[in-house]
Amino acid sequence: MKAEEQPREFHPSAFILHPLRMDRQTQLDALHAEIRACRKCLLAGYDIVPGGIFSGKAGARIMIVGQAPGTTEVVALRPFNASAGKRLFQWLGQAGFGEADFRANQYISSVTKCYPGRMANGSKHHTGRGDRRPSKEEQALCRPYLDRTLALVQPEVMILVGGLAIEKLLVKYKLCEIVVRRFKSHDAWYESKPLSYSHIPQPTASIYCARTNH
Ligand code: SF4
Repeated sequence: MKAEEQPREFHPSAFILHPLRMDRQTQLDALHAEIRACRKCLLAGYDIVPGGIFSGKAGARIMIVGQAPGTTEVVALRPFNASAGKRLFQWLGQAGFGEADFRANQYISSVTKCYPGRMANGSKHHTGRGDRRPSKEEQALCRPYLDRTLALVQPEVMILVGGLAIEKLLVKYKLCEIVVRRFKSHDAWYESKPLSYSHIPQPTASIYCARTNH
């Protein structure tokens, strides 16, 4: 029998996840369940829709961090689902990432994980519309979840979407200083592994600007 006709033998270990990866995934699954069951903001008096929205697994090389899920994300139970997602995945597509592949293999999260609801009437937001920006208290309540997720996923690149994510994760820079710049740093989430940051505007804000400019 020629060598190429020999039946291929697989060592049983070929079907087993790397133990470290599996351990991180197991911990991440437990963290996901904890976040979905979290009611901290409700108990603090905020009228949010509990049940965090995010997706991804340990070992993802890229992590997207947005502001908070929107109303359609709550229905579809997946982040960046509707118009914001359409624009975001258009941009990622131009960079060579297909949406289905990206959703299956990379991680998508946000500064706060639950839908914060609409802005109250009389809001001073310049557009006078849209979802409420999570308060500083909600951001602080949710931050440990983001830090623990980062420590378990250990991405190589983070894409920060919108002003709040940039403000929370690149605190030492002003927005005007980071336009068209990329960062590499050793971060405290896990020892000595370099992490690259990139950032893009909030897709819904871009869509709104585009509409008002035409
Ligand atoms: S936004 Fe975060 S801290 Fe607040 S209830 Fe949801 S998961 Fe908990």
